[in-house]
Amino acid sequence: MVAAVDIPPNIKGLTFDEVASRIALLGGEDAGVTLASRIYRGILQDGHRAIADIPGIAPDRRATAERLFSTGSLEMVSVNRSWDKSAKYAFRLADGNIVESVLLHHHGLWTVCVSSQAGCPLACRFCATGLMGLKRNLEAWEIVDQVVAVGRDAGIRVSDIVFMGMGEPLLNEDAVYQAATIMMATPGLQISRKRIVISTSGVVPAIHRFIEANHPWKLVFSLGAVVPEKRLKLMPIQERFGFDAFLDAVKRYERHRRGKHVTLEYVAIKNLTMGDDDIEAMRTHLTGFNLILNVIPLNPIGNDLVPPTMEEARDFTGRLRGLGFPVKVRYSGGKDQFAGCGQLGRTLLDAAGG
Ligand code: SF4
Repeated sequence: MVAAVDIPPNIKGLTFDEVASRIALLGGEDAGVTLASRIYRGILQDGHRAIADIPGIAPDRRATAERLFSTGSLEMVSVNRSWDKSAKYAFRLADGNIVESVLLHHHGLWTVCVSSQAGCPLACRFCATGLMGLKRNLEAWEIVDQVVAVGRDAGIRVSDIVFMGMGEPLLNEDAVYQAATIMMATPGLQISRKRIVISTSGVVPAIHRFIEANHPWKLVFSLGAVVPEKRLKLMPIQERFGFDAFLDAVKRYERHRRGKHVTLEYVAIKNLTMGDDDIEAMRTHLTGFNLILNVIPLNPIGNDLVPPTMEEARDFTGRLRGLGFPVKVRYSGGKDQFAGCGQLGRTLLDAAGG
């Protein structure tokens, strides 16, 4: 009979306190903090792949640490760099599934857009990932390692995280919140809580839980469309959580933020979401609370939805100016590499003949 081998947890899925207390249990090290700091910094901040690669750790302590933690990494299978300094990364998971992450550059700062699921079950029509279906939820370390690996490859310090890659983060709450907590740790990635943004398409009960838990990160909302019947066609999640319940949750979050705005993401689709009826629906549903509307011109994903030209998108947002809330147009980085909003997974689908 072959004895079962216990694989220790991946250090990239543990908070600094969890690492320190595991080491402290063994005794002999100042409450585990000194060794924990050195290892945590070495793996998460300096990007070493193995504990053996971290300088300055005595052999006996290194052996102890290697028994306590694994340090496995995602396999980077491709990097597609864009002219605008953004890059799309594809990572193979241990089970063969592939997830994508995007590095974005803005005013000298670097953002990583991370995936929280392999695929996505929610099937938004403007999103290639939605065509893949759900493969599985990612573990916390698999989310954190996207940031570590991208930072190491690009030789940059990541300042911002957006959970806007593959998957619906609020369908993988525990791993996403654990990963976001790990990303803030000092020593470690040291990303400010204010610079971690989690985007949801409207998992209403999870939005309420987020508010009640008083999580420190920023939640933004994928509105898609604002005419309820159109939104239902574009975002099937609305069958489960109705438009009014979604908007009520958004407004509760706005009150929770005490005077700070909430961000709603709107997809501008030619001949579908850019008409007078859409503007009228915004007037009806979106006035009276503190919001910023980000208009994202559709990025093509190979279905029948048609993107507006840049001029049409500008003209549309110009017509929204009188509604009484700020409107921004958000052009996606890396579109030439299918790294724009809604495009993750497109290359994988093409490769699979989908
Ligand atoms: S937009 Fe987000 S929630 Fe919708 S299918 Fe794509 S990944 Fe899933």
